[in-house]
Amino acid sequence: MSGDGLRLGMRRMIAVTDRPRIGVSACLLGERVRYDGRDKRDAWLVDVLGPEVEWVPVCPEVETGFGTPREPMELVRDADHGVVLMTTRLRPDLTATLREFAERRVDELAAMGLDGYVLKAGSPSCAIETTINAEHAETAEHTEKSLSASSASSAASALFVDKGPGLFAETLMRRLPDLAVVDEQQLADPDVRRRFVERVFARRCADKITR
Ligand code: SF4
Repeated sequence: MSGDGLRLGMRRMIAVTDRPRIGVSACLLGERVRYDGRDKRDAWLVDVLGPEVEWVPVCPEVETGFGTPREPMELVRDADHGVVLMTTRLRPDLTATLREFAERRVDELAAMGLDGYVLKAGSPSCAIETTINAEHAETAEHTEKSLSASSASSAASALFVDKGPGLFAETLMRRLPDLAVVDEQQLADPDVRRRFVERVFARRCADKITR
């Protein structure tokens, strides 16, 4: 479906129902909440989808109280194989603080009746899937050296590089498993974009009729 066709389809659906309510990583709407004080404004979300929906912007890191600007953060696999959120330089463990916030905020979002959610790709808080690093780079380096030359590279990457959701995204997807969730990179694919739009508008219609 072309961009114009998608827009027309959304308007027709709006004529018979309320606007869908969609949670969104706040930086994607142009809010300057990133660690470096900048945003990640997404033109399609703001200019095309924006007028047809009701956004519920959330920045987990700012709402938790980490401030802007702030040290960048990363996810790390600890010695007990758990996932820890910490800053890249001073390295305080922020996992419990962010997780507590996420549980509280997802309670509020659930009560609002969201129809979908657009997350920021790559973020240790917001991503659907992002990199989980080794606990200490020097530990990985030492282990890599101690492995045999033939297996070192692949074994080290298997041990120390992993993937998983950001901490807020994990809570959101676990607590609201039926919610349509995408990130802005996935939405660059026209098929994903169309399916997401259809799903959130259909859910809004169904909620209105069955309420
Ligand atoms: S990715 Fe998430 S935590 Fe990071 S700035 Fe955007 S909304 Fe805030």
